[in-house]
Amino acid sequence: MIKIVTKKEEFEFQDQIKKNYPLSKNSWFGVGGNASTFFSPQNKNDLKTFLKNFKFKKIITIGSGSNILFKDTDFKGLVIKLGKEFSKIEDSNSSVVAGAAALKNKVSDFAKKKGIGEFEFLSAIPGNIGGGIIMNSGCFGSEISDIVEQITIMDYSGNEKILKRNKINFQYRESGLPENYIVLEVLFRKTKRMPNTTIEKKIQKIKNEKKISQPTGIRTGGSTFKNPPNNKKAWELIKQCGCDKISFGRAKFSQHHCNFIDNTDLASSKDIQKLIKETQKIVQKKSGVKLELEIKIA
Ligand SMILES: Cc1cc2nc3c(=O)[nH]c(=O)nc-3n(C[C@H](O)[C@H](O)[C@H](O)COP(=O)(O)OP(=O)(O)OC[C@H]3O[C@@H](n4cnc5c(N)ncnc54)[C@H](O)[C@@H]3O)c2cc1C
Repeated sequence: MIKIVTKKEEFEFQDQIKKNYPLSKNSWFGVGGNASTFFSPQNKNDLKTFLKNFKFKKIITIGSGSNILFKDTDFKGLVIKLGKEFSKIEDSNSSVVAGAAALKNKVSDFAKKKGIGEFEFLSAIPGNIGGGIIMNSGCFGSEISDIVEQITIMDYSGNEKILKRNKINFQYRESGLPENYIVLEVLFRKTKRMPNTTIEKKIQKIKNEKKISQPTGIRTGGSTFKNPPNNKKAWELIKQCGCDKISFGRAKFSQHHCNFIDNTDLASSKDIQKLIKETQKIVQKKSGVKLELEIKIA
């Protein structure tokens, strides 16, 4: 048990801190070394107290790990994964407020039940709301930044701040937020009211289109590369350059959608990274386009 005694209170962190915690358990790819310290705060107060009392050279906050490729080597630092109290979803003045650990499909479902539209696309994207903000996740023409009103963050020194949407420099699959910000909560803007039957129809349409265009039930991080601006889609370039057929060890692309790496056979992270680098090299040489990574390597 780790105990912190402050002037006012005594904090006990029992199950919230784990040493040498396997990150493969927190990654859709299913690979990764251990985190030397893994902290899952149950609430804001625990997080603040912990950050104000301990210092680490390296820190990362993770959500569901549906967009992260962890290295095979250990993460020598602190990995934060927000716990239970950060997954609340509530109605706020006819709008939605969600904790960063709330799953996107649960937020979409909540909005549907309340007859609040424009959240349908979230039903088809894996992971948490916090990860969605950092990645500015989206599909079928919508991005999370389209529906954000404001976010609450805490920096790695334990200071909390509210940021209005117009102060956040969202771009395609980027939030522009500093790396030492932990997203805690998102207040969504007031969107269109709709009958829940209409919302449900839209959700089913999106889910069906996703099922047709992307693989399901595989170990992956989703789109490996961003779609280049004013150009072909990343998957088209990968296919056109013959990279959909290359492999390193057990690392290969999905034949259903060749911008997705299929790691069902559990390749090493090193082999996945070799596949990524080789693909970037070949595509640049053959097409002149530099493919930028969408997934994060940590
Ligand atoms: C099968 C599949 C389909 C996908 N389809 C789509 C799609 O259609 N559209 C799309 O945009 N993406 C898609 N993705 C990618 C991924 O699901 C999204 O990027 C998602 O929003 C990531 O959420 P997460 O909770 O898993 O984040 P993680 O993968 O855990 O983290 C992603 C990034 O966010 C940071 N982060 C996470 N939580 C926090 C927090 N609270 N505070 C600060 N930083 C944080 C991490 O450090 C990391 O840099 C897909 C992935 C898979 C596996």
